[in-house]
Amino acid sequence: MLCQPDIKKSCSACCGQFNWQNHKRKAIQDILELQTELFLSLPDYNNLSKYKDQVKDSIHNTILFETIYNCEFLGFINQDHTKTGCMLHPAVTKIPDLRYNCFYGTKICASHFCPSFGSLRIVEQKAVIESVDDWYLYALTITDIDLVKGFFNQVENRMGESIKEKYLNKPGLKTVLNDFFKLKEDWKFKSKESRLGKYYFSKAEYNIARINYREKWNIIPSAFDKILVSLESEFKSLEELKIAETIIEDKIQFYIKLYSQ
Ligand code: SF4
Ligand code: SF4
Repeated sequence: MLCQPDIKKSCSACCGQFNWQNHKRKAIQDILELQTELFLSLPDYNNLSKYKDQVKDSIHNTILFETIYNCEFLGFINQDHTKTGCMLHPAVTKIPDLRYNCFYGTKICASHFCPSFGSLRIVEQKAVIESVDDWYLYALTITDIDLVKGFFNQVENRMGESIKEKYLNKPGLKTVLNDFFKLKEDWKFKSKESRLGKYYFSKAEYNIARINYREKWNIIPSAFDKILVSLESEFKSLEELKIAETIIEDKIQFYIKLYSQ
């Protein structure tokens, strides 16, 4: 299951996990800690609208995209706070389902599957699950179809074959892949604009970002265009673009080398 793959991490992106103007790790962690603490301090579940108001009053961040709901019931669901998830889920509360208290309601919450389920091949899903072991980077990565597919398209086109599950455990492969995905969090060419992967937002509207290669430098799009857009890139010069391409190229080549050994 992509949402809760193991005991080390999870994804809660569709519950609004990243839907904040400031969606850096610390900001999201603070919101989840706050919601968890408030929720766990409730004497019972009889007045959850008061809890929702308390959450609203305590968060000092702005919603990124108004159409997506940022659920107040999202929190850390294990003692070590390594897993995010639904604090109303019966598996967490040990009582019958309370998700009807949230904006979406039980039916939608229980039946939602994001595009990553259908768009990422099983081998791609497993590669992400096995290489990323923290809740923040995992959720950012497993929901970024272009980034994951962009990487494996490059790898497979060069090798002339599809990657296979049985080779994902080869020494060093998970580390290289983790290093590549970590670019999402610390990419040196990240745009100053409020972006979430390839998307940028303006109140109730979203658009897909592009890099204007021809207008800026009179060149054709980079072979890594989808990856660069997913990384929220903005380049001040052609030189910066070339440096970015080299960083990505090195990681792809290293992955292929280790995979082929
Ligand atoms: S965004 Fe996808 S993987 Fe993440 S919690 Fe939602 S359905 Fe699960
Ligand atoms: S109630 Fe629904 S939207 Fe809220 S955290 Fe739970 S599953 Fe997500």
